[in-house]
Amino acid sequence: MEKKVAEIVKLLKAKGYNITHSRNIMIRLFVETEKHLKPEEVYDLAKDQGISLPTVYRNIDVLKKTGVIKEITINNDRFYELHIYSQKKLHIHFRCNRCGNIRDYNNRNIFKKMIQQKDYIEETFGDHVEDISIVMRGICRDCHETG
Ligand SMILES: [Zn+2]
Ligand SMILES: [Zn+2]
Repeated sequence: MEKKVAEIVKLLKAKGYNITHSRNIMIRLFVETEKHLKPEEVYDLAKDQGISLPTVYRNIDVLKKTGVIKEITINNDRFYELHIYSQKKLHIHFRCNRCGNIRDYNNRNIFKKMIQQKDYIEETFGDHVEDISIVMRGICRDCHETG
């Protein structure tokens, strides 16, 4: 984890950003959790360390612009997750309509197929794909079992 944090710090510095106390904490948070967090959730996790909500928003902006984190929108809610140096690269999201949990489908097979789709789209339509985000919705296994 320290290595990932150090790499991200290096990248931000190279792009001309200072590593402030709050920025550092937020980088660690995203590296540590590998979860999908709303800004309010980031704030909840970071407020004990003296970070305000506006600061959270400002830093999310910087981290998003520099490609450190990625934004996904589900039902008009915005979530953020680690993008670079993440264990999981391209993945499919599943959001449960009942409990609201977000799950990642993340394996070699899915990755390979998503790359194939991307290549196919670029070849067929001539567009250049920079980012892919897929969200599936339904009832998760746990909610399904408990009826
Ligand atoms: Zn569920
Ligand atoms: Zn995800």
